[in-house]
Amino acid sequence: MQDRSFVSHHICSRTGEKLPAGEVQNLSPAGAPILVQYDLDAVRSAMTREKLTGRDLNFWRYRELLPVSDPANIVSLGEQFTPLVPLAGSLGGQVMVKDESRLPTGSFKARGLGMAVSMAKELGLKKLAIPTNGNAGAALSAYASRAGMEAFVFCPDDTPDVNVKETALQGAHVWRVNGLINDCGHIVGEGEKEMGWFNVATLKEPYRVEGKKTMGIELAEQLGWQVPDLIFYPTGGGTGLIGMWKAFDELEAIGFIGPERPRMVAVQSEGCAPIVRAWKAGKEEAEIWENASTAAAGIRVPVALGDFLILRALKESGGFAIAVDDDAIMAAQQQVGREEGLLLCPEGAATVAGYQAALDQGLISKSDRAVLFNCGNGLKYPMPPAAASLDRHQPIDWGAIASTS
Ligand SMILES: *Cc1c(COP(=O)(O)O)cnc(C)c1O
Repeated sequence: MQDRSFVSHHICSRTGEKLPAGEVQNLSPAGAPILVQYDLDAVRSAMTREKLTGRDLNFWRYRELLPVSDPANIVSLGEQFTPLVPLAGSLGGQVMVKDESRLPTGSFKARGLGMAVSMAKELGLKKLAIPTNGNAGAALSAYASRAGMEAFVFCPDDTPDVNVKETALQGAHVWRVNGLINDCGHIVGEGEKEMGWFNVATLKEPYRVEGKKTMGIELAEQLGWQVPDLIFYPTGGGTGLIGMWKAFDELEAIGFIGPERPRMVAVQSEGCAPIVRAWKAGKEEAEIWENASTAAAGIRVPVALGDFLILRALKESGGFAIAVDDDAIMAAQQQVGREEGLLLCPEGAATVAGYQAALDQGLISKSDRAVLFNCGNGLKYPMPPAAASLDRHQPIDWGAIASTS
């Protein structure tokens, strides 16, 4: 592995201001997310398709497009390629689910936090803090413990119980807060001075997005260095959508793909749809969504720092934003479970509902090749009650059993 990175510099995502790489950074001087830039000409000759063959099938194989300089700083929990599972059944169209639930800690947050913690190690940080709806806290906890760092996690008090407990079991200090993720974010921000921790909130440091962008690279590689027609992404802070959009430009610059791009679709819940509202109003930024509420915890994000980057990617890609209600999300979860044998998380199910709604509204066609993101493990969430009980000491009513099938 190279003992240097191909990072050339950083930029402010709002003003384009050039910023140095290799320093501990949160937001840019303009208060916007910082994006990592690479010497793509150098990457072009260093990372050929041939060189990729033989490397392990996980996101670290794209090392030339990643910020870590010294491979010794990579903090790993056994990441792997996540499968593209075709949905054969009633959805009709050409649909594949990229099942990110197979990653360490059971969600795609492993990509972003694996990268952020590795870079924290490279930069000598020891204490990290995060606001989370559950999965980011669990991933931070795991990777920080792996790296020998301390992690502080703040989540809304109704965060799925499994998330809170897995976070604690993996070593972080975790608190339930009587508020939403943005309220937790304020606490993490306030604690920076008092506690001396580094804030790894969504888009508040440059590296989670670099980890998340590997979804786009991996997807393109799995499709034979092609992009699908559509990507449905359950959008909270939007790191993955922003990251993939960035990845496609980098892939084009190094000659791995051409100018073609997927239409990017942001899916949100009707109970918290700031990006959809802004999209429909033709705005470039989103206003805070009051009284946010949805069972899809991961996308209950009332305000996104990268709102303008999400909206820009939707526009540039010819995509759109679409909202689905929680009933449709739960119905989609049940349908895909029953008909396809795939247990989606509610956020993943939202992309199925969003796909169906987009078809109904004539926004897409059945012949489009669509990739839907299942970003977390369905087992982490409360599930509908199931299973009747049988008294084995009584005669069994086989008729009743037959009628349930
Ligand atoms: C974090 C998360 C999301 C939202 O991802 P962003 O990239 O922050 O928009 C969606 N679903 C699940 C399960 C998540 O954990």
